[in-house]
Amino acid sequence: MYNEEKENLINELRNQGIKDEMVLDAIKNVPRELFVPEALRHQAYNNVALPIGKGQTISQPYTVAIMTEALKIRKGMKILEVGTGSGYQAALLSYLGAKVFTIERDFDLYSKARIRLEELHYDVICLFGDGTIGWSEFSPYDGIIVTAAAPSIPKAFKDQLAVGGRLVIPVGTRSTQVMHILTKLDYNKFSIEKISAFQFVPLVGLNGWKEE
Ligand code: SAM
Repeated sequence: MYNEEKENLINELRNQGIKDEMVLDAIKNVPRELFVPEALRHQAYNNVALPIGKGQTISQPYTVAIMTEALKIRKGMKILEVGTGSGYQAALLSYLGAKVFTIERDFDLYSKARIRLEELHYDVICLFGDGTIGWSEFSPYDGIIVTAAAPSIPKAFKDQLAVGGRLVIPVGTRSTQVMHILTKLDYNKFSIEKISAFQFVPLVGLNGWKEE
């Protein structure tokens, strides 16, 4: 199902500069239509963000692809995601062979994503709570991906990253952000690469934006 829509999306992502064939293969094989509301399934392979309830969104496939590519996933890597949302990004990382830990602050979204991931047999460990403090219990992580917009980079994420690991996080104002890709070179030494411009929902919590 959706074969033509999937091919069109993959071609569009290639044209936008996504090169990692493993990432493109994952986007083809993880059923995005099962992570969006039923009424929006016909749009599942459009290159757009879609509402998932509670004022939140499943990110645009291009954004998901560029963030996943930046993590350089290899089998067995331990990845922390902050902002489970629908569970789609977590499913993609799991499909690529990562051991995935994901945190969501909205109880309703957390519950639905957890059940959905379980039913679809994605091996993902879900936590309900404030992801801006990370998840120290399972640290250090080989990668941390933050799928909501942060006002600055929480220190907890830098601390919980393994040396050699990558942190992918949109940082900026509430309305527009620059994607920051940090590589931990040594304890407290990071290289940084930036890609503009993105629009995420806010990361709300202790080390993020305050609730409005
Ligand atoms: N990755 C998701 C997916 O694949 O569907 C999309 C994430 S959506 C753009 C951002 C999510 O971050 C929302 O579900 C929101 O509730 C969540 N969020 C915001 N602040 C958070 C926090 N402090 N801790 C955990 N989740 C948070």
